Amino acid sequence: MALLVKKFGGTSVGDIKKIKNIASSILQSKEAGNEIVVVVSAMGQTTDDLNCLAESISKNPNRRELDMLLSTGEQVTIALLSMALNEYGIPAISMTGSQVGIITESIHGKARILDIKTERIQNYINQGFVVVVAGFQGTTLSHTGSMEITTLGRGGSDTSAVALSTALGAETCEIYTDVPGVLTTDPRIVPKAKLLDEISCEEMLELASVGASVLHPRAVEIARNYGIKLCVKSSQSDSSGTLLESQIQPLPLKRGILELTKTVNSLEVLENQAVFSLSNIPDRPGIAAQIFEKLSEASINVDLIIQATNDGNNNDITFTVSELEVKKTEEQCELITSQLGGEYNLKTNMTKLSIQGAGIMGRPSVSADLFDTLSQANINVRLIATSEIKVSCVIEINNIPKAIRFVAEKFKLSDTQIFVNPIIEKQELPEVRGIALDKNQVQVSFRKLPDRPGVAASICLALAENNLLFDTIVQSERISSSKNKDISFTMNKQDREKANLVFDALTKKLPGSYIEDGPAISKVSTVGAGMAFKVGTAGKIFRALAEQNINIEMIATSEIRTSCIVLEKDSDKAVNAIHDHFELDK
Ligand code: ASP
Ligand code: MG
Repeated sequence: MALLVKKFGGTSVGDIKKIKNIASSILQSKEAGNEIVVVVSAMGQTTDDLNCLAESISKNPNRRELDMLLSTGEQVTIALLSMALNEYGIPAISMTGSQVGIITESIHGKARILDIKTERIQNYINQGFVVVVAGFQGTTLSHTGSMEITTLGRGGSDTSAVALSTALGAETCEIYTDVPGVLTTDPRIVPKAKLLDEISCEEMLELASVGASVLHPRAVEIARNYGIKLCVKSSQSDSSGTLLESQIQPLPLKRGILELTKTVNSLEVLENQAVFSLSNIPDRPGIAAQIFEKLSEASINVDLIIQATNDGNNNDITFTVSELEVKKTEEQCELITSQLGGEYNLKTNMTKLSIQGAGIMGRPSVSADLFDTLSQANINVRLIATSEIKVSCVIEINNIPKAIRFVAEKFKLSDTQIFVNPIIEKQELPEVRGIALDKNQVQVSFRKLPDRPGVAASICLALAENNLLFDTIVQSERISSSKNKDISFTMNKQDREKANLVFDALTKKLPGSYIEDGPAISKVSTVGAGMAFKVGTAGKIFRALAEQNINIEMIATSEIRTSCIVLEKDSDKAVNAIHDHFELDK
């Protein structure tokens, strides 16, 4: 007998007919011998409608009262579904988050789950009941010690379902939704986009702009941390959907911190890295492809790749390789610069330091905190590359002990969360799983910044303090004017308009520097867990773009993701080109 947690989203419980259908599908699953806990969302657009009601009274409604209001949406669904199950002769009982004992932080509107009491639910399961739980809500003790209703944030019932699965030790958590599962990319851009049979939690998080609409990222993170088998499928069809699996060793469930309240989950240090910087190479489609194909032909596995915005007609491209590959790489760089012009520069004794965690997503203050911490330790940051759930930078090797101490302390990481030169098993994973596209972004560069500790930090802190979201930060190496450096990043268009005051203040504080606005751009992120082990994936991505004559404005990579910033007008073409090149529809 298996215990299954099944979650049905808003559209799947949108009307009475659908609720009855769900009840009948639960009947089948129950007759097949399963024990079942159901988690449901509010019917259809109910949560939006409730928000509108609140807004029609107040622009800034009291957070407690708003949670009181929003939590009613799910309460309607649990009662109706329970009744429907009863009509089919299934013993069923509905429970709110408070009745179950879904204990959250004392924050209204975006509370994280700390613990879930399982006694009462387990009791009903043992008696043969289907338990129907309200998603998206929990309970907390206020500072006066009285019980309060909290909500988890929009889309939060996925999180309720996965957290419940963890607490109950369920065999699988099935998320039923109105799409067939997770696709290789957005089907509105690539009609051939294909349903994925499986994807790792890490890949899903990096594909945020494709994946977040399918599954709440916090739910993915819980599944990842505790090794929950998570399945996303359509409530309308019998197709098997997409299976999400964690790639990490599951953590033991610690009561009271179920949804780790930390933004950063781990610190990783990779020593013995060499940084190669190519500078003054031509800026035109095909150059990046040519370079990384050469390196791949020589079997050189490149780790980070960073290309900042071009300076006139020239580009700088920087990448890291293991120190074991320095000789081979030097030979290739000689060749490349003799053919393309420009020069290269090599730095050995470098180390890559990365912080990781789903909480980094959408929180620019985390990268700001990292750079600030390193600057307080008086450590100069050489390279920066960010992805959705990871911030990496390259620093000199002799700074490492100090860096680990400062960063671990800042993000409150224990020894078990710090990995120095981790040995990662090579697995047969696809080098490309899917492609995410972020539109509506602009590119901004700080030029001629003084090269000293704290500069990146001061920029990121100023933006974060003003609640301006920035993304893909790239800091490249420059040989010609080694006293200066450039930092480029992308931000969404609306935030760029609001950023003028902050930028003015910053350029005043950093004499000689100035801001350069780039064109409207999009970020095309190619994600695949196998990318870390395969030689040449980046070269293939760049080739796919070059074949369509698409120029790459910026590049930033992490182990399992390669992001290319391209002109907005090229973005759909770019996604299609990469999708075709890797034959993701096959
Ligand atoms: N009803 C909530 C919302 O619309 C929670 C959910 O559907 O996951 O955001
Ligand atoms: Mg949802």
